[in-house]
Amino acid sequence: MRRTVFDEDHEAFRATVRDFLAREVVPVFPEWEKAGAAPRDFYRLLGKLGVLGLQVPEEYGGGGQRGFKFNAVVNEELARAKLGLGTVRVHTDIVLPYLLRYADAEQRRRWLPGVADGELMTAIAMTEPGTGSDLAGITTTAVRDGDHYVLNGAKTFITGAVNADLVLVVARTSAPPPDDRRAGLSILVVEAATPGFSVGRNLAKLGLKAQDTAELAFDGVRVPAANLLGEEGRGFEYLGHNLAQERLSIAVNAQAAAAAALELTLGYVAERNVFGKPLSGFQNTKFVLAECATDVEAGQALVDRALEEHDAGGLSAADAAKVKLFCTELQSRVVDKCLQLHGGYGYVLDYPIARMYADARVTRIYGGTSEVMKSIIAKSIGL
Ligand SMILES: Cc1cc2nc3c(=O)[nH]c(=O)nc-3n(C[C@H](O)[C@H](O)[C@H](O)COP(=O)(O)OP(=O)(O)OC[C@H]3O[C@@H](n4cnc5c(N)ncnc54)[C@H](O)[C@@H]3O)c2cc1C
Repeated sequence: MRRTVFDEDHEAFRATVRDFLAREVVPVFPEWEKAGAAPRDFYRLLGKLGVLGLQVPEEYGGGGQRGFKFNAVVNEELARAKLGLGTVRVHTDIVLPYLLRYADAEQRRRWLPGVADGELMTAIAMTEPGTGSDLAGITTTAVRDGDHYVLNGAKTFITGAVNADLVLVVARTSAPPPDDRRAGLSILVVEAATPGFSVGRNLAKLGLKAQDTAELAFDGVRVPAANLLGEEGRGFEYLGHNLAQERLSIAVNAQAAAAAALELTLGYVAERNVFGKPLSGFQNTKFVLAECATDVEAGQALVDRALEEHDAGGLSAADAAKVKLFCTELQSRVVDKCLQLHGGYGYVLDYPIARMYADARVTRIYGGTSEVMKSIIAKSIGL
């Protein structure tokens, strides 16, 4: 069905991004996958293209966009080109909103220009070895010492940590009262060059090979109190404010990846011959791909509705959870069916569908697992 969420400007921007990815990224992407991360200069190029600063106010060198649709275009084009580069999404869709909403005037001057031009790449560190879904269980501590906080602890699974210059670290600044485990968390912006801060292993993952995911350690890291984001102790509340966009961003990507898998497979089945005729001629192939096309259409309608709702300022946590749950489960379902139609080639990493299968698996886990999404949705319907 015809999509109505994007206007001419979005489509012109889409053409620019598509062309850039095809020219600058697709040919070298296998090398980035081998290296386990994209090179630092890639982000500077994205900065020049205006991709990183879409929502940064113009006075700081950004595009001044208030809405999320241009971000969605980038997200869709990355997925369409089969490029697992969630580091971009973390920077633009997840970290930037915290800076825009909670950074004070001095912090905005200090950070936003670099965030827009790619000189300051960012990551966000919530998850710890001992706690992921249950963020109230964070044990990394930040103890006030004069005009600094002293940070101790460890984080894991941090997207973009290898290239990050600034990491938003969620840490405990005070012990929680017995009746509120969520109290006492704060967000500190840690500069990667600070002594005591170290980036550990870039984890070897099942998929998303060019998207670095690393461990972080904080050993007596002295973070200026001027790097506290917002007010001390309100970190959990701040995290809650941005989860809708984070989950919508994952859903947009998952949805576009499912659409890309379908398109790829339509091409494959037309060319592959089995038992003397094209694979596309078998009723099973037609039925399976008809199911996929229906799934993709339904997911697109939901994503587009959510994009409108989000730009109107009204996407609730529960609705974002529904969109993420639906689109990520849909992605897994569609990509799995598409892989099956590739036969043995679908299992070989030279074929894009194999990498798409590996990349898809994590979308039901990160940004809140499907089970956590169901808990949020259940609560919203009074259960
Ligand atoms: C590639 C990748 C990138 C990531 N990037 C980042 C990042 O940039 N920053 C960051 O902070 N984190 C990041 N994460 C971490 C990610 O958000 C967590 O892995 C995720 O939230 C789940 O936490 P966990 O791994 O500790 O699993 P756990 O919380 O230990 O969950 C284990 C299982 O228990 C289930 N479970 C948990 N709670 C409930 C419940 N209440 N009811 C029912 N079942 C439940 C889960 O659904 C899951 O099946 C990333 C992870 C990956 C794999």
